[in-house]
Amino acid sequence: MTSPKKKLIAGNWKMNGSLESNDALVRSLVAGVKDVDCEVAVCVPSPYLAQVQMLKSGSKLELGAQDVSCHASGAYTGEVSADMLREFGVRYAIVGHSERRQYHGETDALVAEKAKAALAHGITPIVCVGETLAEREAGQTEEVVKRQMAAVIHVNGHCISEIVVAYEPVWAIGTGKTATPEQAQAVHALLRKQLSAATGHAERVHILYGGSMSAANAASLLAQPDIDGGLVGGASLKIADFLQIITAACAQRA
Ligand code: PEP
Repeated sequence: MTSPKKKLIAGNWKMNGSLESNDALVRSLVAGVKDVDCEVAVCVPSPYLAQVQMLKSGSKLELGAQDVSCHASGAYTGEVSADMLREFGVRYAIVGHSERRQYHGETDALVAEKAKAALAHGITPIVCVGETLAEREAGQTEEVVKRQMAAVIHVNGHCISEIVVAYEPVWAIGTGKTATPEQAQAVHALLRKQLSAATGHAERVHILYGGSMSAANAASLLAQPDIDGGLVGGASLKIADFLQIITAACAQRA
């Protein structure tokens, strides 16, 4: 199924940036996205939300966070609530990134609760799912991504068409190894089918691909019928590369 919606390219800066480098990057990005016909966001470290909110003011660039607490407020040292993110004009929050699942022990159930907290405060969660290399080699890709997705559907079923999904094979993140367009499309199609069983509006859901997306491979990935955009890590920090990915996304609008 070819989706008629605009593609979405979201940059994930991870734990990178400085006041000085952010300034240059965001100013160039704001200028570069002025006339583009797709959606663009940057998910920045929390201390930089205010800076980027100000720099992007009046532009079509959207602001994202890299995580959100499942709690509303209270004694949760170090956590940032959805309400707080909202105060900085945050539109998207990544939840369940594999780095948080791996290094911070985030479970499927916690990821689902984080998605719920974001949705309750008008923030679109970018829900990451994806298999490790060992899981792929064991033939468990489908089982793993379906399990991760099912937890989010179970908790957020009533508004599941409001989320963004990012399929990020763990073995492709930051490694320079990208899933082939066919490998990615196969997983995107099964995620779309799973979403269809939960909502009559699965075609509305952006399903992004993430994992070493680059200026060189973006066009072929984004040409796949169920790849509605990209979640871009390393290449989102290089303005020329990121703008090329954005251009590829706009050209491929279905
Ligand atoms: C990511 O961090 O979500 C990601 C996809 O990283 P990279 O593009 O660097 O693989």
